[in-house]
Formats: sequence, structure tokens, C-alpha cells
Amino acid sequence: MTKLVKDAFSIETEVDFSEKELLEIISCLTLKDEIESGYSDKFHLHHEENIVKHVNHILSSKISGYKKEKSFTIYFTHDVDWVKINTPLSYLKSGLSGTLRKIKWFSFSELYHRRNLIRFTDELIAFEKIHGFHSIFFLPSSNYDPFNRYGSRVDLNDKTSKDFFQMLLSNNVGIGLHGSYHARYKNSYAEEAKKLAEALNREITMHRNHYLNFDPANLWQQMENAGIRYDFSIGYIYDQGLRTTLPFSFKGLDVLQNRISNVTGIPLLFMDLPDTLTDKEKTIREFRENIQILKTYNGTASILFHAENLCLYPELFELYSQIIDICKSEGAVINPELK
Ligand SMILES: [Zn+2]
Repeated sequence: MTKLVKDAFSIETEVDFSEKELLEIISCLTLKDEIESGYSDKFHLHHEENIVKHVNHILSSKISGYKKEKSFTIYFTHDVDWVKINTPLSYLKSGLSGTLRKIKWFSFSELYHRRNLIRFTDELIAFEKIHGFHSIFFLPSSNYDPFNRYGSRVDLNDKTSKDFFQMLLSNNVGIGLHGSYHARYKNSYAEEAKKLAEALNREITMHRNHYLNFDPANLWQQMENAGIRYDFSIGYIYDQGLRTTLPFSFKGLDVLQNRISNVTGIPLLFMDLPDTLTDKEKTIREFRENIQILKTYNGTASILFHAENLCLYPELFELYSQIIDICKSEGAVINPELK
């Protein structure tokens, strides 16, 4: 057990974790409590507000003392759920957003003028460049299935998608797979990664699941089979925070084979749901607290903003900008290259 934990955090020195601590660390990394709770939300996922746990400071400080890397690191990322917005589904959403206040989407005139997510994203990348980093974009590659709630809204064969991909490649940003909602059940990560690698003519080694819908027990084995080396899926949809309760990246523990995989999990700390704007002060306050925790323990985490949300909500762009400033002013190393 000691070896598993040391390997998970790449600790090279001797450690003095007690048996209880080792078990506790393994429970954190494998999300044991939430799986055993049997709870699942409307997306059929385990995590939800009622299982949100607090940071385990005792374990964090102990692990931090043994870890080799001493820099506090943040990865800014974007999941690409939309590329082309003048599609039938998009028009339907525009119609609904006129009648249902809960749904906000581009207006008919914006769609008519083909408000362009490619141009917007290009500008977003330029904005990030000014801040001194290249972010990571996660792209879907499963079959185009826009009217299925969980299906892909990006058609890989469409010219707009191809132009979007070219724009990303020419900007030299990080690119990973946005694994489909059903990939965990169909075990289709390898197929999806291969399809994306062929479409981009680029090796794909990073991943985040659509709706964060992964299988905690099988994830690491599935990622290895797909050639993925970094997974960014472990986080919350409805809350910011650290789902493993530990602020570190770690080598995934393949519980089915009782071994450490060669895939590194990078926790997701924050997702940009429009709800984060309901009480912006609270969002920022909690974010600052979380950043302090990462800073204290020289931790690592990722932050997710969807480009279409940033394009739709100017207030969200403002929040994004503030969040970048907070991370920079706290001395985070931002988006170092992952090899
Ligand atoms: Zn998604």
C-alpha cells in the first residue's frame, strides 16, 4: 500500500504514513465514499452538492511535505461543445431562449449573421497569449448526434469544424479529447482518440469527459488503452472544489488490477456554469479560498470555461479575466507544457 501511494504522488523518499492514512489516501483517490453512497444525479453521475467534501488538510500537508514538485500550477482549459452555431438545434435553442428565461442562447439575428465562434475563439486565444499562456482545448470526435441530449454537437466532417481545428492548430494551443458521454459504457475512448488524432494529424494525450461522465474504477485502464497520459475529468459540475479532497495531480490508481496506471489525473477545480454568476462575489470569494489551498500545498488543478459561454455572457468573460488575474497574482505557474 505504501508503494501505491508513493507512486501515485511520485514520492521518491521514505515516508511515514500510518496504515490508516494510507487507506484514507487511497479512498480519496478512488472516490470510494461517493461511489459507496450510491447517489447519482440527473446526469447519472455520482457526485453532487450533497457529497461535496472539504479539503483534507492533514493528508494534504503530509503529502505536500514529501512531494518533489514544488510549484503551484494551474491549467486553463476549454471544452468544445459547440463549433457551428447556425444549426437546426441552435435555432431551436434560440426559439426556446426567447420563451424560457432559463435558457440563454444566441438570438436569431446573431445566428443569421452567423456570429462566429471561430473568430471569437481566435480572439480568446490572443487574449490568453497576452496573459502569457496557451490553454488546452478538449474536442469531441464521436458521431454527430445533435438532438440526443448527451450526443455530440460537433460534426468532424463539416467545413466549419475543419476551419475551427485549423485555427486551433495554427495557434499552437494544447488539444485533447473531449470523450463522449457514452464512452465509459461503450469503452470507446481509444476509437474516439484515434479519430481525433487522424482528423488533426496530431498525437492526442489529454482528455476530459463530456459532463464529467467517467467510470472511476475503469477510467485509468480505459485512458491507457486510448493512449491518454493526462486526464482532467475529476471535478464537480455544480460546485467548485477538489473532488478527491486533495489538491494534487496524481497517477491514477487502477483498483481493478491493484496497480498504479501511467495516466496522471489533474483535478478540475472550477467550471464556468452560468450559475457562477448568480452570486459573483461568493464565487470569487470561494475561488480565492481554493487558490490559497492550492498555493499552500504547491498543488495542481485545472479550470474550465466554455468558449460559447464566454461569447454569450460578457459577465462571464469578466469573471474569467478576474480568475486569471487572481491565479497570476498568487504566483501560479500557468499551463506549463505537459509531456
Ligand atoms: Zn462537454
